[in-house]
Amino acid sequence: MRRAAALALVVLGTVSCGAGQPASVPAPATSAPGQEAPQSPTPAPATPTSTGPPEFTSKVSRVSRDRLPYSWRPGCPVHYRDLRLVTLTYWGFDDKPHTGELVVRDTVTDDIETVFEKLYDWRWPIEQMKLVDAFEADDFDSIDANNTSAFNCRRATGSSNWSNHAYGEAIDINPQQNPYVTASGGTAHQNAKKFTERPIKGKGVINPGDKVVKAFAAVGWEWGGYWSGAKDYQHFSKGGG
Ligand SMILES: [Zn+2]
Repeated sequence: MRRAAALALVVLGTVSCGAGQPASVPAPATSAPGQEAPQSPTPAPATPTSTGPPEFTSKVSRVSRDRLPYSWRPGCPVHYRDLRLVTLTYWGFDDKPHTGELVVRDTVTDDIETVFEKLYDWRWPIEQMKLVDAFEADDFDSIDANNTSAFNCRRATGSSNWSNHAYGEAIDINPQQNPYVTASGGTAHQNAKKFTERPIKGKGVINPGDKVVKAFAAVGWEWGGYWSGAKDYQHFSKGGG
């Protein structure tokens, strides 16, 4: 059924495109090198020209109060009406495209879309991207699950001040591979202990001056890996801090 649908799409596309583009009609099936000749004379189904992963997509929408049952409450420094849900494509640790969700302030959605389109095009991998509400807004649990997330109305680590996450202007990426490391070199997360040094190699690791850091810098977001003292390798925020 799927193949028939794909064929129909190709035919439709050919008709509707008119003379605009050359119709790419796949050659009849022939046996590829190293493969046995098909036993049936039925030609292989038409293969669309774009067989690769889907293009990057992103969508910005208003976020309802009930999407943020744990991460937002009255008294937070930004009202939920000024937050946006960004639904976007990301490349997974499993080498496949996925759809993730991020909540950020309405003023920074362009920044996020710009950066994440680059990451996707580079096939730069991210393990998971759910709202922190999936973890009842528990930062520790979200980090332990290696979840990439942005908005969370909480205080900065070790401080009574609001975190930039509470303004929807910060994001944590692959927190297992990019832990918050204290000035003495420790991390609170057992699964992150082998990722406390920089630079290191590894899937989803962010290193000083690498293309991920540069992509964020290009839209005015600073990396927590450049902090003096404690380093927050997962953390990027608009304007720093
Ligand atoms: Zn952070």
